This record gives sequence, structure tokens and C-alpha cells, in this order.
Amino acid sequence: MIFFSDFDGTITQADVTDRILEELADPAWREVEELWVRGLIGSHECLERQMALVNAPRKRLDALIDAIPVDPSFPAFYQFTRQQRIPFYVVSDGFDYVIRRILRRAGVDGELRNGRHLFASAMRVEDGRVRVAFPNSCSEHGCATCKATVLRRVDRDSQPIIFAGDGLSDRFAVEETDIVFAKHQLLDYCRRQGIACHPFETFAEIQARLNNVVDIATMREAHPATTLAK
Ligand SMILES: [Mg+2]
Ligand SMILES: [Zn+2]
Repeated sequence: MIFFSDFDGTITQADVTDRILEELADPAWREVEELWVRGLIGSHECLERQMALVNAPRKRLDALIDAIPVDPSFPAFYQFTRQQRIPFYVVSDGFDYVIRRILRRAGVDGELRNGRHLFASAMRVEDGRVRVAFPNSCSEHGCATCKATVLRRVDRDSQPIIFAGDGLSDRFAVEETDIVFAKHQLLDYCRRQGIACHPFETFAEIQARLNNVVDIATMREAHPATTLAK
């Protein structure tokens, strides 16, 4: 299997971009947000216009990022994926600078933190302004980071794709996914649309479910003739 995860509200327990805007942006960011909520602009245009309203010294930005809580079971879950050789990717509308800083604090290393398994928007901080870029955007839905495109592009062979997320920007990803773990707005969306999903709150719950799957796969390898029906 291949595991893809959203970042804000899924690995973290709050949306970092929302916090940055609430505390460090000109209040006009809320008018832009309204256009996005009403579906008049995509997340790409939304974030580009909102981040241009942010004005803060790097120290304040970093202090805010450092106060964002992470799901306490995430570091152990990430280790579990490494041990089981399950490729783990983050796909996020959020910003690489923020995500890597939070992952470092959570003790996560390797391909995720060095960026090879991270698909996100890009951010540089210069003289109190943030400069952003969107290397994974799409014109189809106006996504800042097109989760559907990232999932479609992965070399999956016949391996099932698992996705975990919490928000509306994850709705394009679930169409490309075999097993969905959902919470909050994404859970409501899946239920409304009749999309099969596993509700979850923490990565400890996801790990417990995947452990069953891994155990079964290991038993099949060891005893190919065994049926596991009971
Ligand atoms: Mg999210
Ligand atoms: Zn898209």
C-alpha cells in the first residue's frame, strides 16, 4: 500500500495557515476567504491573495508555527510506516516552510522532511514578507496543491492507495483513493456523497486498523495455502 496524508488538521491539530492569517494578516483576508467558501475562486488564487496580506517578522511567524499542536501519535505512526516499508507522502495546500519546521519539532526525518515525499505550496520569508509559489497547482479545480493530480501521478502498480484527511480540499483526493480515513469536514462530505470511509481522530486509530491488514498480508506470505476467512 501507499499512504498519502493531508497535513493541516490531520497531522496537526489546527490549520496553520488559518492561524497565520488570523494573527498576522490584514483583516481583508476574510473577504478573500469568503470568495473561496462560496466556490468563486480556487485555493490557489485564495492563498496567493491572502498570503500577500501577511506582514510579520520571521520570529513571530516561527513562534506561531512552534505553538501548533501535532497529533501526539503521529511520530510513532510515521515510524510504523518506515518499519513496514509503506511509502508515506504528505499532500498539502499548506506551505513547505511551515510543514518542515513542524515535522522537525515532531522528530520526523528522512524523505518526508527533506522534501522528496512532500507535495505542498512553497514559502520563503524575507524582511517580514512571505513569498509564496505553487509548484503543484492545477487549472482543473484551481487547487493550490492538486491532491488528485499527485495521487494520479504516483507509480502505484497494483498497490492500494490510502488517504487520510479532514478538509474540503481533500475531496478531490478521495476520488483517486482506495481506502479513505476521514474526519471533520471530509467525513461529512464522504457521508453526503456516499463515499466509503473510515472515521478517525488520531493516527493511533489508523495504525491499529493498518496493523490488522499488515498481519493478514504477513500470514498470507508465510502460509500461502491458509485461508483467513475465520
Ligand atoms: Mg486539512
Ligand atoms: Zn486540482
